[in-house]
Amino acid sequence: MDEMSVGKGDLRGEDVSGGAGDWLAAARERVRVFAQYDHAFEEQADVVVVGSGPCGAVAAYELACAGHDVILLEEGPPFTVRDFELDGNLSMARTLREGGLRMTRGTTMPTMQAIALGGGSLVNSAICVRPPESVFDRWATRFDLERTDRMSLDPHFDAISGFLGIAPTPDEVQGRRNRLFRDACDAMGIASEPISRNVRGCRGSGECLTGCRSRAKQSMDISYVPAALRAGARVLTSVQVQQIRRSGRRVTGVSGQVVAPFSRGNPRGLGHRFRVDAKAVVLAAGCTATPVLLQHSDDLANASGQVGQNLQFHPGVAIAGVFPEAVDPQFGAAQGYQSLAFLEEGFKLETLWAPPPLLAIRFPGLGEQLQTRFAELPNMAIWDAIASTHRSLGRVRKRFRSLEPTLHWRLHPDDAVILRRALRVIAELFFAAGARKILPGVVGLPDTIANAEQAALLDSALVKAGNLVMGGNHVFCTTRMHGDPTRGVVDEDGRCHDLENLYIADTGIFPQCPSVNPMLTGMALARRQALTLADRL
Ligand SMILES: Cc1cc2nc3c(=O)[nH]c(=O)nc-3n(C[C@H](O)[C@H](O)[C@H](O)COP(=O)(O)OP(=O)(O)OC[C@H]3O[C@@H](n4cnc5c(N)ncnc54)[C@H](O)[C@@H]3O)c2cc1C
Ligand code: SF4
Repeated sequence: MDEMSVGKGDLRGEDVSGGAGDWLAAARERVRVFAQYDHAFEEQADVVVVGSGPCGAVAAYELACAGHDVILLEEGPPFTVRDFELDGNLSMARTLREGGLRMTRGTTMPTMQAIALGGGSLVNSAICVRPPESVFDRWATRFDLERTDRMSLDPHFDAISGFLGIAPTPDEVQGRRNRLFRDACDAMGIASEPISRNVRGCRGSGECLTGCRSRAKQSMDISYVPAALRAGARVLTSVQVQQIRRSGRRVTGVSGQVVAPFSRGNPRGLGHRFRVDAKAVVLAAGCTATPVLLQHSDDLANASGQVGQNLQFHPGVAIAGVFPEAVDPQFGAAQGYQSLAFLEEGFKLETLWAPPPLLAIRFPGLGEQLQTRFAELPNMAIWDAIASTHRSLGRVRKRFRSLEPTLHWRLHPDDAVILRRALRVIAELFFAAGARKILPGVVGLPDTIANAEQAALLDSALVKAGNLVMGGNHVFCTTRMHGDPTRGVVDEDGRCHDLENLYIADTGIFPQCPSVNPMLTGMALARRQALTLADRL
């Protein structure tokens, strides 16, 4: 499909409607796609929301439901089922920033951010977890927050869960890969549970990362965005916001340029200019994009000096286990089982599946050796851990004439110890489940480990920052929420301390990493914030 037809596709066909209804005809008038822009334009609204990921989509929906005139701006295009590519590399090139090859400097780690209607929800695993009270207790005491506790957020979690049909993954779609993890946890006396996900009618195809062709995953483009349209919002896709406009202590709107789908943010000569004037601006461009937008807008909202600082991830590590019999890992929910038993130690365990080309990046060896690994794929399962690494900090900086960020981040040696412990636990789980061998994925260790005794090698000092093969797709804190305006960018309502009507509603406002998968928490905070803003307008 060519670039133009992607623009025409989704919101005009049946797919994005999640079952076209009466609203679709009206929605067509309020959704713009790349092919429709033939001149520069200006719009006005009560609120302009930048970014249609989980946080922006929820904010736009709630504000529209409250009766406000809302415009939702998204740089990426909408995707239909026909636009999804099963090939992992091709899919990443189309749905992810920098073709999915974005890396941190300092400690090198790949990090993925989506560029699509629906943001990260289009390509994520749909995992929805509420953080335990201890996370919010830490946030409240260390960041002077008075209302950000589990009890006051629970109504927002409940509302979103009801709306998206969030429920534990049923056994029928777990597949052997996930069930083996459950059995291993049972054998070791470790508590585990089916993962709650925002899906309806999942058939366990394991394709979450390249886009759900069954449209079972309730990504924002088929859930909150259509609902926002039904409530009267307008949605403009393929528009890159480049500037937030300001007058004194108020912002007056945003401006930018039309960008062709898959042009990697480069307007390629067309680039009609646009401007949206609004009474309030909500930035939900994502944790790595929002600070860059502020930096490019004359260092807006940065009296505290905290914009772009405090960058945190949940770095993840994974082990592949090879079983004597077939696992058929391609079948089953991409991530169907988890254990929260080690949260207080700083890590969460999960099952994982990704397209084979992505797995190949972390398989040891080349040529014939790599082929042997691939031949073992049908007998493999992959389990991972994501870690709460509060001591590992970084920063986001703008680049010259580009909205792509430069990311600096270092894994603190004490946090590397958390990942070392997590790897050891995963290794033990594999052997408890009967694995024949594991691929630990740590530079300096043997490519394969054949038994639980040998897995003691994972306690070695070789398991350190520079030797770990990590990924970090959960990103936080670059515009952090803090009760003290000198130490944070936004207050508890998401409003920038420095400005009267500029709000931030993405995971950048988290004061610290949340220890569990962040999407649901980001949406709950965005919902709370939108309800407050709706009353203020
Ligand atoms: C592969 C992968 C798997 C994941 N799995 C899970 C999971 O299962 N569960 C979970 O909780 N979390 C998961 N995450 C993380 C989760 O998806 C993110 O935390 C979440 O999407 C963040 O939401 P957001 O609204 O803050 O930002 P995003 O989802 O990043 O949305 C930001 C949007 O803003 C747009 N944008 C950016 N700049 C501009 C601009 N200048 N102009 C206009 N638009 C702009 C972007 O194109 C994007 O669509 C995963 C992430 C990835 C990449
Ligand atoms: S496992 Fe398959 S059917 Fe289920 S949500 Fe993911 S992509 Fe969709």
